Amino acid sequence: MSPTLAPSTDTVDFDLLLTDAMVITADPSRPLLRGGFVGVKDSRIAWLDTVAPQRFAAKRTLRLADRIVTPGFVNPHLHAVLTMVRGVAADLGFAPSYTPGIPKGTQVDAQQARALARLGAVEALMFGSTVVGDNFVHADICAEAMVELGLRLCPSWRIHDVDFARVARGDWHHDPAIGERTLQAGLDLHARWRGHPRVQVNLAAHAVDTCSNGFLREVAAAAKANDLVVSTHLGQSRVEVERVRERTGRTSTEVLDEVGLLNARLMGGHCIYVTPADIERLARAGAHAVHIPKCNAASGRLAPTPALMEAGVNIALATDTQHGDMVELMRWALATARVQQGGVNDAWQPHHVFHMATLGGAKALGQHGEIGSLEVGKKADLVVFDASRPHLRPHVNPVGTLVHNGQGRDVELVLVDGEILVEQGRPTRVDLDEICRDAETAARALWSAEGKPY
Ligand SMILES: [Zn+2]
Repeated sequence: MSPTLAPSTDTVDFDLLLTDAMVITADPSRPLLRGGFVGVKDSRIAWLDTVAPQRFAAKRTLRLADRIVTPGFVNPHLHAVLTMVRGVAADLGFAPSYTPGIPKGTQVDAQQARALARLGAVEALMFGSTVVGDNFVHADICAEAMVELGLRLCPSWRIHDVDFARVARGDWHHDPAIGERTLQAGLDLHARWRGHPRVQVNLAAHAVDTCSNGFLREVAAAAKANDLVVSTHLGQSRVEVERVRERTGRTSTEVLDEVGLLNARLMGGHCIYVTPADIERLARAGAHAVHIPKCNAASGRLAPTPALMEAGVNIALATDTQHGDMVELMRWALATARVQQGGVNDAWQPHHVFHMATLGGAKALGQHGEIGSLEVGKKADLVVFDASRPHLRPHVNPVGTLVHNGQGRDVELVLVDGEILVEQGRPTRVDLDEICRDAETAARALWSAEGKPY
């Protein structure tokens, strides 16, 4: 099959043409194109080959010698507002929502939420993520703030029927009124953004310990009725496991299955505490594991990703509350899986984690028909890395070099729908300095309110 959309004798018009690049496609049929030409037309990839069309015209051409082009990275599990606990959360030993003495989402006002969400989003975008799945309270404000940057967004309201202030004191009281309010907020968010070309709202049932079984059934029904992806924290902590066992006599995965949420539209974040039977259940259901290796490892824990992969569970990679560098994250995923397995094997190679960070994430979000790999006809969401730098040479195996040596800060150019959102490493739509300043002001106020000024 020809890789072009137009017959070769016609003049092919491009909005943008990238030439001479090393293109890592995430398309298994041709994973690497050296000296690649990528033509963009009407927000899609219209040409991808090692030769240019015979006759073409391009409004803009970028010669990308010594540059690596990849699909945009997909980060489906992020809490941008929690940039406020960076430098602290990793050392608490537990998720911030459950921990007393640090700022909670419920204490964040609208202006602070906007400032912190923009910080998380701009960082993700500058480091090559073209899609982020963001979940927290204030999802309405955060979605507005993040969409302005131009990246694709899968926002979701944090849905639960506990009071987190009580949970922080060890009291998991399930209140139907809280459930009703948070679920309705999630559905309102969906209604607000339905039809937006770069926004897909998900439903985020926080976790099985913070949602009662009856409430989870309501979430399952709402997700089915509106055809929504459901995101949850699954097997995130021992506390969750113990709490769910005490309440239901089951594992979290078993509860999700019973309530009708364990299916191909479910993304389970973390998957640290899952049993071999849970893993089989996840695989059978076609549910997706969102692997968060850096966050988990920083708190001394790891998901059994080698077993998840062997069982055939689709794995995506996400940064959660850690900083939004998906390139570094691929390295963490690879290295931690090798620590778990005691060495190097064929099942865990750079191209496997590259797949997780791109197409795996797109599959988890149900968007793999449009994004996640570079193929003619797909959306022109792509990233250009400056591989002329010493740490990215020589160019023997670009995917291996990128995974082991690359960093988000090597990103020069980011496109979403063919629109340049980052150029020369800087965002094009927003003022980066202003975002950093506003986020610092918000964090300082929130920490001061906790009696910890800085
Ligand atoms: Zn999370």
